Amino acid sequence: MSEARIIDGKAFAAKLREDVAAEVARLKAEHGLTPGLAVVLVGEDPASQVYVRSKGEQTLAAGMHSETHRLPAETSQAELLSLVERLNDDPAIHGVLVQFPVPDHMSQAAIVAAISPDKDVDGLTVTNAGRLASGLPALTSCTPAGCMVLLKDVVGDLSGKRAVVIGRSNLMGKPMAQLLLQADCTVTIAHSRSKDLPGICREADILVAAVGRPEMVKGDWIKPGAVVIDVGITRFPSRDPVAAAAGKTRLVGDVAFDEAKAVAGAITPVPGGVGPMTIAMLLANTVSAAKRLNGVAE
Ligand code: NAP
Repeated sequence: MSEARIIDGKAFAAKLREDVAAEVARLKAEHGLTPGLAVVLVGEDPASQVYVRSKGEQTLAAGMHSETHRLPAETSQAELLSLVERLNDDPAIHGVLVQFPVPDHMSQAAIVAAISPDKDVDGLTVTNAGRLASGLPALTSCTPAGCMVLLKDVVGDLSGKRAVVIGRSNLMGKPMAQLLLQADCTVTIAHSRSKDLPGICREADILVAAVGRPEMVKGDWIKPGAVVIDVGITRFPSRDPVAAAAGKTRLVGDVAFDEAKAVAGAITPVPGGVGPMTIAMLLANTVSAAKRLNGVAE
């Protein structure tokens, strides 16, 4: 059997960012509207700092307004919530994102609940999750939305496909399953209590792994020809000891890539697969939010 097609998430994301930039230019010219994204980072988590920097840079590169609010780890929850309130009320801001994880003294649920559903570009509020589950227009979590862009391109019509999602988080697994269901897949959600996970995975035409356990999904879990989307990211020190000593890391996905690519029909690599789609979808969500908030037709 021939090897799997490697899905180039970087190229898809670059195209999506170009489309977003063109739409931003049109909104500025025709409506005097500049979409704005505010990202809030509490504390010094090194991975979060990288993500937040990149979100700010890519927002500006798309011609949008970008604000990054960096707060010290000892910030109180009340202070954070009052910043979120201000951003909810700021007409220059159309997307509000608090980078998780937050320090242990804060409640993630309380923070999500404070974000205006109209500006919830991560799709985490109960309102947006409920709208998605009800088949209504919603701001949808960026990573699953990015996975759908890749799947629709690679698979085409998803109708009737057997899809298995490993992971049931509000950020990833649940919205992913909802989007696949909307596309008329037959969807199974597997999780840490699922029995015979390899057997469940072997039924999948589309397998999405969103767990955070490096190389958990083995080659013999995959149905020959299946499309495999690897969302997982675990950071390890770089293999090069000098680079590792300098704090450089490497990313490992949930799928044992070399084994899997010998069986799958198509597969996303880590890095360079799903990851780049997430920020591109964040920009797209912010543009959608700006249009809805300003009464501009989608
Ligand atoms: P999460 O909240 O920790 O959820 C992980 C899920 O995996 C849970 O539902 C858990 O099941 C399930 N799980 C854990 N161990 C398992 C096992 N042995 N067998 C089957 N299922 C198991 O994580 P998340 O936020 O959804 O993220 C998942 C992964 O995706 C992480 O590696 C994260 O870094 C990555 N991620 C990447 C991007 C990106 O841009 N590429 C974006 C978001 C997340 P239970 O519910 O039963 O505990």
